[in-house]
Amino acid sequence: MYCLPVLLLSLATLSAAFPAASQEDLEDKYGKMAQKYLEKFYDMKTTGRPVGRKNNHNPFVKKLQEMQAFFGLEVTGKLDQKTVKMMEKPRCGVHDIGEYSTVDKSSAWQKNDITYKIVNFTPDMPRADVESSIKRAFKVWSDVTPLTFIRVYEGDCDIEIQFVSGDHGDNSPFDGPDGILAHAFQPGPRLGGDTHFDDAETFTKNSQQYNLFLVAAHEFGHALGLHHSTDQGALMYPTYPSTDPDNFRLPQDDIDAIQSLYGKEEVIDLSIVPVPKKPSDPSTPSTCLPNITFDAVTTLRGEILFFKEKTFWRQISQNSEVEHHLISTFWPTLPNHIQAAYEFQDRDQVLVFKGAKYWVISGYEVTKDSPKSIYDLGFPRTVRKVDAAVYDDNSRKTYFFVNDNYWSYDEQKQSMDSGFPKKIVDEFPGLTKIRAAFQKDGFLYFFDGHRQYEFSSAKRRVTRLLKNNSWIKCGNKASNLKKRN
Ligand SMILES: [Zn+2]
Ligand SMILES: [Zn+2]
Repeated sequence: MYCLPVLLLSLATLSAAFPAASQEDLEDKYGKMAQKYLEKFYDMKTTGRPVGRKNNHNPFVKKLQEMQAFFGLEVTGKLDQKTVKMMEKPRCGVHDIGEYSTVDKSSAWQKNDITYKIVNFTPDMPRADVESSIKRAFKVWSDVTPLTFIRVYEGDCDIEIQFVSGDHGDNSPFDGPDGILAHAFQPGPRLGGDTHFDDAETFTKNSQQYNLFLVAAHEFGHALGLHHSTDQGALMYPTYPSTDPDNFRLPQDDIDAIQSLYGKEEVIDLSIVPVPKKPSDPSTPSTCLPNITFDAVTTLRGEILFFKEKTFWRQISQNSEVEHHLISTFWPTLPNHIQAAYEFQDRDQVLVFKGAKYWVISGYEVTKDSPKSIYDLGFPRTVRKVDAAVYDDNSRKTYFFVNDNYWSYDEQKQSMDSGFPKKIVDEFPGLTKIRAAFQKDGFLYFFDGHRQYEFSSAKRRVTRLLKNNSWIKCGNKASNLKKRN
């Protein structure tokens, strides 16, 4: 497929007031620049030689008129001062062509979960600022659509983000400081969706040029299938915006365009969702009751385990009927009534918590040195138990939930992050207490005792409400305690 490179162009400021120049002077001085501009952004085909600019039928005049019409300038077909000034403005360099504001719906991503990878970083900003600018730029689009952006660190992904300079192998070389700032390719395989920033620019996180968040938000619009807009206030307008990045709000023109491709986001108002009734007889837990509560939930090598009292349910795959086992049959050294559990796939381990102790299941076996003390993980002595725990692939942190607080643990450094605990509600809006949690397919699932919440950490909000037993496939045998086979 043909990937449309999207070039964000700013030109060296030639902003000194124009002296009263004659038409000839303007054409002499800016003719070559204008020709390049029209070749690049208006698909003007030339043989590389200067084109005559005086004849109404030549491509230069026609393309110049197109450009003037796009920007709402007087359509003179002549290189007048206003036109030159517009060409000098910092801008995105994607073609300003195309009748519609987006690609055809069939050329948009045919899925809602989009993965991205930051391949390298610019030396202009601390890594964390690059990461937060990119994250915020994606959030601009995920806030108004069902789209979710999931960061990956290796392997294939949809949107590959790179800082590169000069010719970097995609037929759209960068041009040094100013000029072209960035480009992105419309959705598709391979280069499709990829977004390149010209590393010769200086990127910032403040209002100095060029604010990375603003440039990235515009480019990601292209990576999702948007073309340029003729609406001067739109994010997808071709020129670098004069918007204050701190107070950015996505304009309606862009919202309409992106929603025409992906639809609207359904926002769940947690304040009006009724609390389900308690199960009528809690002494006979059946997973077929939608309101069943769990002590802890974790994944284990693709399975989901739901712990309750002395037993656990084992959902091996989406379609298999759930198995019900005694904890002691499977793991004789584990306690009953466990309180939290999480899987850390990188080490092929599940950590199981009760009181101030935790047990490590490595593969399927409890390690010999279990149990260990939770204070070795960095908890203060005031913490006596952990309510829930989950490793979040998106942030690459493990979260521990204790009452209405949570801690963040760095698995690489094997230490608790500083600045914790924080309030659960601050990082997980809509949630105040979490009794069980697990992660699956990029989403976090939280149980608060009443219901289950699907939470997108990329969007930082609840995206779905589910029944507590939504993962469990009940059958006749579901309540029979099986022996380990
Ligand atoms: Zn653009
Ligand atoms: Zn490129």
